[in-house]
Amino acid sequence: MVRSEQKPFEEILDYLEGTKKVFILGCDGCAQASQTGGWPQVLEMKERLEGAGKEVTGCTVVDFLCQKALVASRLRPLEEQVMAADGVLILTCGIGVQAASAVIKRPIFPGCNTVPLGGTRGEWMGAERCLECGDCLLYWTGGICPLTACSKGLINGPCGGASNGKCEVSKEKDCGWELIYQRLKELGQLHRLKKFIAPKDYNKMRPRPEILSTSLWALEQRD
Ligand code: SF4
Ligand code: SF4
Repeated sequence: MVRSEQKPFEEILDYLEGTKKVFILGCDGCAQASQTGGWPQVLEMKERLEGAGKEVTGCTVVDFLCQKALVASRLRPLEEQVMAADGVLILTCGIGVQAASAVIKRPIFPGCNTVPLGGTRGEWMGAERCLECGDCLLYWTGGICPLTACSKGLINGPCGGASNGKCEVSKEKDCGWELIYQRLKELGQLHRLKKFIAPKDYNKMRPRPEILSTSLWALEQRD
């Protein structure tokens, strides 16, 4: 279970400044259980965005947004609605946003933060990993997490050690920042790299006291 919470609506509107048409994508897996990205939340978000003057070209919920093949097959019949939008607002955890971003050829807007449960999340076989930083910055990086894709977890650009697109820490590994650059270039969103991202507040990466007494936390601690 990956727990998420919706970002404040004002932050979502900030991302959407200058964006007229939006497609909304939710997740019927963990985000549905977290009450952040199931059908009720997607429809509520649609209403709020329309109230804020946005045009919603369409919306849907996929069983598990962390499964790229599933996302691609479910979105195929809706391609016209997705491509008609200036971007896709994704209501789910950091892994789901990363996986969906890899198959959607539109700018993405993360609508949620992943709540820390004391570890790194990621579905086996998938390349996407989330450090549960509690303040998702995938908007700025085209849906690729710099905290996990970069060996050093750099959030404001590369270290300078990359060679031929490979990381200086391991030549077997793609440089995360090369991937981010290529993704943003493909989307025509290179201007997002101009944003200075403030140092992470590592307190947000610690499980919150109220979570430590829940059955979810107890289950997470079992081997
Ligand atoms: S920025 Fe990365 S670590 Fe933070 S919530 Fe998003 S995917 Fe997870
Ligand atoms: S080479 Fe790229 S992935 Fe490796 S540490 Fe430097 S910026 Fe990060």
